Amino acid sequence: MKVLVTENLRIDLDSESWECRHCGKVLIGARENYKRGLVVYDRDPRQIHKPLLDPVKFKLTFAPDPDWCRILEYYCPQCGTMMETEYLPPGHPPVRDIEFDIDALKAQWRHRPELSEAPVGREPPRRQSHDHSSHTPESRK
Ligand SMILES: [Zn+2]
Repeated sequence: MKVLVTENLRIDLDSESWECRHCGKVLIGARENYKRGLVVYDRDPRQIHKPLLDPVKFKLTFAPDPDWCRILEYYCPQCGTMMETEYLPPGHPPVRDIEFDIDALKAQWRHRPELSEAPVGREPPRRQSHDHSSHTPESRK
């Protein structure tokens, strides 16, 4: 069972791993920060936000100072799709912006159909079957 997470990422619940949605590359364990399974381009922010004033004449140019800010771009190591970008102080580890309880995710998707594309509409995917085996009187106490 594969669960879609973002437009670029999905989790394979059977192998408990992050995957690229575009090429299927297994990136890293699903209990890890997915960014650690990607290629990182540590960019000088002045490449993105060009100085508005002449840097020869002015110390402050309205461009971010690379000693205080870096732009990290994350790419799939197989197909090169850009997965994420973030602004961080130099040397800061990748921010963990997505973290699931994998066991709860498995229980949630146990009775739902696997989706290969995000559903369009207002209703989320529904369970295909329903039983009460996990609702014993003892479990309600
Ligand atoms: Zn890929």
